[in-house]
Amino acid sequence: MHATGTVSGVNEQLDSQGHLRHLVTLDGLSGDVLTGLMDRAEAYLIAPGQPGPGDRSLEGLTVCQLFYEASTRTKISFELAARRLGADVVNLVIPSSSATKGETVLDTLLTIQSMAVDFFVIRHKEAGLMRNIATQVCDRTSLINAGEGQQSHPTQGLLDVLTIRQHKKDFENLSIAITGDIRHSRVARSTCHALLALGVHDLRLIAPENLLPESNELTHARRYTDFDAGITDCDVIMMLRLQKERMQSGDIPDLDSYRKHYCLTSPRLKLARGDAIVMHPGPINRGIDMDSEVVDGRQSVIHQQVGNGVAVRMAVFAAIADGKKS
Ligand code: ASP
Repeated sequence: MHATGTVSGVNEQLDSQGHLRHLVTLDGLSGDVLTGLMDRAEAYLIAPGQPGPGDRSLEGLTVCQLFYEASTRTKISFELAARRLGADVVNLVIPSSSATKGETVLDTLLTIQSMAVDFFVIRHKEAGLMRNIATQVCDRTSLINAGEGQQSHPTQGLLDVLTIRQHKKDFENLSIAITGDIRHSRVARSTCHALLALGVHDLRLIAPENLLPESNELTHARRYTDFDAGITDCDVIMMLRLQKERMQSGDIPDLDSYRKHYCLTSPRLKLARGDAIVMHPGPINRGIDMDSEVVDGRQSVIHQQVGNGVAVRMAVFAAIADGKKS
């Protein structure tokens, strides 16, 4: 076992030649690194029924997925991304694994690492777990964070900024509103880190007071409790689900009042710019986060986000694979 050094700072996600080694967080990655990953992802976008890019960057490599929390989009898209690049993929089914006998995540991972696995894609509720594990794996092993508690979800942040870039020019001049349960959202944190690195100035966080982030977090963004004021003249509106699984009992809002003040309805959407796009990482609670008319309406880019997720995850795998070959 070779320790790889402390992954306490984001630059330690990069190897000595600047290649991505792990993807634990977007916090601290430069706009250039993010732009490089988006450019690479663009090349992997395929239309349904069209042949793939023919890139076999992951041929001979093995990916293991460890999802300790529920997932639909992220898990499937990581698997498709790995397979489209030629990898072998194995999935551990956590409820029937030795986790139920008390095996720790680290012990599970080190066990599977002994079977010559090159990538681990991990989702877990514990903050700090990914960084801790990244310090303890072999040199040839890479970790990709597929959702860490309420801390971070870096590939979601990447696919969000790619989707915005496909519709809007110049991040610097955009007004972007993120609304819903920001306090418990790993997506909000990762997407905000990416938006900041790409130069967004007008970033607005809209939520009831107890669902806004702590006052020492995401301090560059303006905070609103008034939904209508917050989305006025926005170019991008990103809605978030109420993360009931991460709330304390006092945090859970009265749903009727929440819906009344924070659900994105068609009349409310008119307050944003006429060409504003509407995003949501999914899963959507229709009628609470947003009305169906908006989810399925012409300004919604939600399905495009999902498609971009596969391409972004291919880009991350391929970028890490570059480092393994050099
Ligand atoms: N799918 C996203 C996540 O895993 C958003 C959500 O669950 O609301 O964080």
